[in-house]
Amino acid sequence: MALMITDECINCAICEPECPNMAISMGGEHYEVDPERCTECVGHHDQPQCQQVCPVDCIILDPHRRESKDELQAKFDRLDHAS
Ligand code: SF4
Ligand code: SF4
Repeated sequence: MALMITDECINCAICEPECPNMAISMGGEHYEVDPERCTECVGHHDQPQCQQVCPVDCIILDPHRRESKDELQAKFDRLDHAS
């Protein structure tokens, strides 16, 4: 699954630089996860890095974005890793 940020987000921006896939950015009301770029950190880390740092625990698994580890790995392989 990709992760998603709920409206409990306080826009502290701590998570944004932690994402190895550059999947997090400021949205209309609060920070958002681009599900096309979020691999649950598969390919980089054992744990979702954004969840580790969020002070209000408002980053959750998106139940509408169910993906297997293999699918997440395939997404990782499709991403550009130029940075
Ligand atoms: Fe980025 Fe990892 Fe959080 Fe997904 S789980 S948004 S890849 S830090
Ligand atoms: Fe929002 Fe949590 Fe990210 Fe801060 S760390 S911007 S509260 S999602």
